[in-house]
Amino acid sequence: MELCNECSTLQGCSADRIREEGLTLIGVGECEGVVAIEHYRCEKCRALLVRQLCGCSAEQVWTAFS
Ligand SMILES: [Zn+2]
Repeated sequence: MELCNECSTLQGCSADRIREEGLTLIGVGECEGVVAIEHYRCEKCRALLVRQLCGCSAEQVWTAFS
């Protein structure tokens, strides 16, 4: 399935970027008590989006899986 425009736009963006609408938080992963990763489901195209909040800055990006 193709990513919707919002997911395509978010793909590869910095995790600092926040998308408020159309996403459902489905899971959170913690590392040493700090949120390290968030999993979202796009309500539009049903893609899985992962927001990585740990690691070096190059790793702290959004990744979309259609
Ligand atoms: Zn989408």
